[in-house]
Amino acid sequence: MTSTNSASRSAPGSKAAGTKPTGTKPALVVVDDQDATRTTIAGALKRRYGMDYDVVQARSANTGRAELDRLRDAGVDVAVIAANAHLIGDCTTFLAGTRDAFPRARRVVLAMLGDNWVLPSIAHAAALGEIDVFDYLPTSDRDERFLSGIASILVDWAQEIGRGDPRITIVGSKGDRDFGTLVSVLQRWETQPIRKLLAGTPAADAFLAEHGIDGPMPVVALNDGRYVTGANMANLSDAIGSGTNSGPDPHATSFDVVVLGLGPAGFSAAVNAASEGLKTLLVNDTFSQASSSPMVRNYLGFPAGITGAELMRRAWTQSMMFGASTRIGRVATDIRRRDGRNIVELEDGAEITAPVVMLAIGADYRRLEVESIDRLVGRGVFYGYGALEAQAMTGVDAAVVGGANSAVQAAISVARYARSVTLVVRGSTLRDSASDYLVTQIEDLPNVTVMLDSEVVGASDDQRLRSISVRNRNTGKAEERAVSGLFVMIGAVPRTDWLPSGIARDERGYVLTGADGPQDDEAEHLSLPFETTMPGVFALGDVRAGSVKRIAAAVGEGSAAVAQVHRYLSRVTAGATAEREGAAVAG
Ligand SMILES: Cc1cc2nc3c(=O)[nH]c(=O)nc-3n(C[C@H](O)[C@H](O)[C@H](O)COP(=O)(O)OP(=O)(O)OC[C@H]3O[C@@H](n4cnc5c(N)ncnc54)[C@H](O)[C@@H]3O)c2cc1C
Repeated sequence: MTSTNSASRSAPGSKAAGTKPTGTKPALVVVDDQDATRTTIAGALKRRYGMDYDVVQARSANTGRAELDRLRDAGVDVAVIAANAHLIGDCTTFLAGTRDAFPRARRVVLAMLGDNWVLPSIAHAAALGEIDVFDYLPTSDRDERFLSGIASILVDWAQEIGRGDPRITIVGSKGDRDFGTLVSVLQRWETQPIRKLLAGTPAADAFLAEHGIDGPMPVVALNDGRYVTGANMANLSDAIGSGTNSGPDPHATSFDVVVLGLGPAGFSAAVNAASEGLKTLLVNDTFSQASSSPMVRNYLGFPAGITGAELMRRAWTQSMMFGASTRIGRVATDIRRRDGRNIVELEDGAEITAPVVMLAIGADYRRLEVESIDRLVGRGVFYGYGALEAQAMTGVDAAVVGGANSAVQAAISVARYARSVTLVVRGSTLRDSASDYLVTQIEDLPNVTVMLDSEVVGASDDQRLRSISVRNRNTGKAEERAVSGLFVMIGAVPRTDWLPSGIARDERGYVLTGADGPQDDEAEHLSLPFETTMPGVFALGDVRAGSVKRIAAAVGEGSAAVAQVHRYLSRVTAGATAEREGAAVAG
């Protein structure tokens, strides 16, 4: 049973939770041996943030360390440690050394305009998670550009440490699927901390009694008094206005374009389609893989990186601003054709029709399912492999997990830069899972060690990768290996089982498009690069066979696919006109 209600009592979540009750303000620490720049930075921070933060100055790396020790001993949280790139004794080394005392503080390097010589060491330190942000020194204590950069750093910090009042409280039972899904989705989407209470505990009972809430679990309560009992993704998104029929035409079931999947590919397709006047509906079940990334560093326009969740939140707002409608918490279960249009069926029985369906349903990345590793994604741990990240391994020890060709290729590339590479393979031989020529190549590399029958079971340090624990699957013994980088290459599985047989897929389930699809004389509709074997159905992003599994690539495909949709629609219109004319001549 589901019910949506409004509690008349005081708003849930009005008391601070998850906030460290120190009573002291957190600190912003400025370390700079040049008086003029240090005074300007500290002055700017004090003017804007003096009410909520203490601004602490240090004249050298040594005094910076001493100040940080003092703050730690006094139990003060440090939100930001900002150092001048010119700091004597090496700025990035100083900042990297502050991790032990303040693992969650954001480390910022400030340089002068034109200080390009600092960039290689900054790029290296950022990829290893030693620093978080690079920016330019403020020009004055009112430099809005500088201060807005600090503002977003503080938002990010506050979110990570759970500072602030929760806007949402979720009560539910361990092991309940809806409860688990709601917690993980809301943790990604909410900018405020989430309060999670286990049903049956005194805290949960007191919370429900205090707010007069009675009904089946899970319960999701907003701090404005609204709540949903028997909550799931669909009824919650309906209750907060982003679910069924949100958009300019609330009862519409017919659209120009239906986009299935809201990750980078789907959002990009939606923004482009809606901005070009196509009536667009977005359908999504839970969350994009991109929102699992704690720090995306390779997306254009975000030199300091951005959390995947924040990137997706911005994309959401952008697509809404162009007037796209949404059905969130809905799973697409079938696509079929009727009268030249496609019909998408949803799990709740609803049917939506549109000439064009864009499949942007991604793939589920196999995760290591090791919490200590997942926390370090973007800070030394990478899902997938990129040349930049490989270069960041110059002179350090790294590891790659996986036994297929992609993992072996990654290990070979990383070995060009790293001092050593450990390839961790679950199987007892590489030759079963990777091509012979790659195995031969890797065996010849002096700085690569292959650990067979092995799996990664843990990582040390919760802010930056320092070592991994590798367990031998036969003996059960675990050994610690010091590494600064870990590339997880254990594959991804597209969720395409539900698609109709008319949509051709490769042997791994990825959707074939354009010239990659089966060719026959009738298959005229396969002429567009992202078109599937079903007329009017396009595939983009990770779900598409042959796509580059990256956020930027998915965004690019979303935009390119919309151009192809226009061509498809003109072709359909031209076909219909020719048919009408043919019929008229025959008549
Ligand atoms: C931990 C992690 C870190 C990563 N870090 C980076 C990084 O730093 N940089 C980078 O470039 N790439 C990164 N990636 C890869 C990147 O996230 C993907 O390449 C990207 O998200 C693919 O986008 P997409 O839109 O194709 O699919 P997705 O982002 O997976 O989105 C697909 C959406 O479709 C929904 N969906 C699926 N089936 C259905 C259905 N039947 N009905 C309704 N909805 C459905 C899913 O719930 C999901 O919301 C990372 C991946 C992971 C797992």
